[in-house]
Amino acid sequence: SIKGNYAKRVAYYDSMMMQQMEENHVLLSDVQRGLVKEEFVLYLQPKCNMATGKIVGAEALVRWQHPERGLIMPGGFVPLLERSGFIARLDCYLWERVCRCLRGWIDAGLRPMPISVNVSRVDIYTIDVVEHIKALAIEYELPRYLLEVEITESAYAEDDQLITQVAEALRDAGFTVLMDDFGSGYSSLNILKDLNVDILKIDMKFLAMDEQTAGKGLGILEAITGMAKLIGMRMIAEGVETEKQVKLLLDMNCVYGQGFYFYRPMPVEAYEALMEDEDNFDFRGIKAKKTKN
Ligand code: C2E
Ligand code: MG
Ligand code: MG
Ligand code: MG
Repeated sequence: SIKGNYAKRVAYYDSMMMQQMEENHVLLSDVQRGLVKEEFVLYLQPKCNMATGKIVGAEALVRWQHPERGLIMPGGFVPLLERSGFIARLDCYLWERVCRCLRGWIDAGLRPMPISVNVSRVDIYTIDVVEHIKALAIEYELPRYLLEVEITESAYAEDDQLITQVAEALRDAGFTVLMDDFGSGYSSLNILKDLNVDILKIDMKFLAMDEQTAGKGLGILEAITGMAKLIGMRMIAEGVETEKQVKLLLDMNCVYGQGFYFYRPMPVEAYEALMEDEDNFDFRGIKAKKTKN
């Protein structure tokens, strides 16, 4: 009967939902254990001057070295941690890990370049991100230009001013703010009008080279890079995978890039190995390129 089927379906969805809640619960206690046992690992992906291939900085990306499930990528746990508000715990842990690295390198007489951390919209609504990062910079005695913060463009989209205020407060405090995944949302140009970030990180989707999207993507890319140059805004492209993309971006005056073509995200030890040779680095960092006229 219809009624019987309905009841069966409800029971089915109920059991699915229970299963999912159960899974989330297991995952959260798993995360708690992972934090205690230091299973969350800091990876660093260099950012490069694409004209020379030299490193101008790096992005901190988290990995979960799970005792049973192996290495898990952020896509497998960050969204759930965001839904539960737990992400702030993990991010605070990771930011401190980054600060410890920077301090260690300075103490060892090395010349570290800035490291950027990803700040989730949920972090901003859960903790006082500005106070927290300031406190870390003080505790680890770090010059503030060494700490950069990436906030994804889509976070600004639903913003009720808090994200904008936090970005501004971070900049006032001397940290560098990047707008991550720029162009992936719908409010890009409106956001730019208020210019509360230092560097645009251009979303990798514009680099897609398949027949159908290439034309439009490139047109938009050209508009974004052209505009950034006009207003003297610093920019970097993410997800650079091929030499063809490098050439294209350089032609558009987008000099900085991050992606598998140059380096994959790597454990801290591998990044430290790169630091042993100063020739791998361009200590001028990311500069703006203004149009001459
Ligand atoms: P995102 O911040 O936009 O980071 C860029 C992502 O692109 C990274 O994925 C990176 O490994 C990947 N990527 C880099 N170069 C290339 C390339 O050439 N080709 C392709 N196809 N991909 C490339 P990952 O590490 O899996 O991180 C995914 C997202 O998870 C990040 O996107 C960020 O939003 C989030 N995430 C990562 N680590 C953290 C963290 O510690 N805290 C928070 N809140 N979010 C994080
Ligand atoms: Mg990022
Ligand atoms: Mg990004
Ligand atoms: Mg992205």
